[in-house]
Amino acid sequence: MINVTKTFFPPIEEYQAQIQRIWKNEWLTNNGELYKELSQNLVDYLGVNKIIPMTNGTLPMQIALKAFAEGGEVITTPFSYVATTSSIVWEKCTPVFVDIHPEYLSIDESKIEAAITDKTTAILATHVFGNPCHIEEIERIAHQYNLKVIYDAAHCFAVKYQGQSIFNYGDVSTCSFHATKLFHTGEGGAAFVQDEKTYHEIFYRHNFGHNGPLEYHGLGINAKMSELQAAMGLSVLPYMDKIIQERKKVCDYYDAYLDFSKLSKLKIRPGTDWNYSYYPVVFKTEEDLLKAEAKLKQHNIYPRRYFYPSLESLPYINTNTCDVAASISQRVLCLPLYVGLDTLDLELIIKSIC
Ligand SMILES: *Cc1c(COP(=O)(O)O)cnc(C)c1O
Repeated sequence: MINVTKTFFPPIEEYQAQIQRIWKNEWLTNNGELYKELSQNLVDYLGVNKIIPMTNGTLPMQIALKAFAEGGEVITTPFSYVATTSSIVWEKCTPVFVDIHPEYLSIDESKIEAAITDKTTAILATHVFGNPCHIEEIERIAHQYNLKVIYDAAHCFAVKYQGQSIFNYGDVSTCSFHATKLFHTGEGGAAFVQDEKTYHEIFYRHNFGHNGPLEYHGLGINAKMSELQAAMGLSVLPYMDKIIQERKKVCDYYDAYLDFSKLSKLKIRPGTDWNYSYYPVVFKTEEDLLKAEAKLKQHNIYPRRYFYPSLESLPYINTNTCDVAASISQRVLCLPLYVGLDTLDLELIIKSIC
């Protein structure tokens, strides 16, 4: 069976060696040795300013919204994973959908200003499939209207934009280290911030609001990453260059052999060093997609309709429609992409689609 993705497992001896350190320390969570080491290694590897590792990739979004969106309207798009919109609603803010760009598949920056009202407090935009939003224009708008910018950068591990980590943009960028993501800690994630003040704001909220053991800065929750998660991260991180190289080979193969008279592919924004995290193709019609999906299934190949359905259809929101997002989400399929997918598999996938 070939699925859309396959979790990378580091050699078990290397994972066991990390676990042994935990037993030796007799320390499972709260600023442990492995957590500190992983934090530093990620800062070095990614070239980021500041990281706060967390227990998954959704809590950092919720915490950033709690800190900065103040129950207001939050501009976002319906073409993302459900966590982007559900976090807004969970934090008692109101999602306001702006449509996406038909080729970049991230928020259409030219439509943001029309959606701003006096209740707007933040923009929560997803760098969809690791492809950056129009960061400069979003920054300009945020500055002009005094809005906070939070990026759902769940897909963006190791992406660089204009020569530096994509996590170095926005007031807060969040990433997911879930098992299905490029870099993983089983479950896990992080917030990335640029300055000491924002770091403090996010840090205390992810640790119950503590200011030392006996005092509190303010309201917090528990989103701390444990030593067990950090052990997996420390075992996976040394393989990231290799993982990205291998995935590039798969993407190059799709680029070379898919029939782009019948499909369109993701257009990567200029200035981006991409991470080969997903390989979405957009069919001309949903019918074409369903036909291809059925053929692939006959060969035990399971791509994923990601993102489908468009988040406008969530039962707990009542909002405007976005035509481009609705249309793309009906026609987009993410093809299998992982380390170990061989040429025979790829030939079969391509033959079934074209
Ligand atoms: C995976 C994902 C999330 C959620 O991350 P978790 O670590 O599973 O909580 C949020 N946004 C996007 C775009 C994602 O793909």
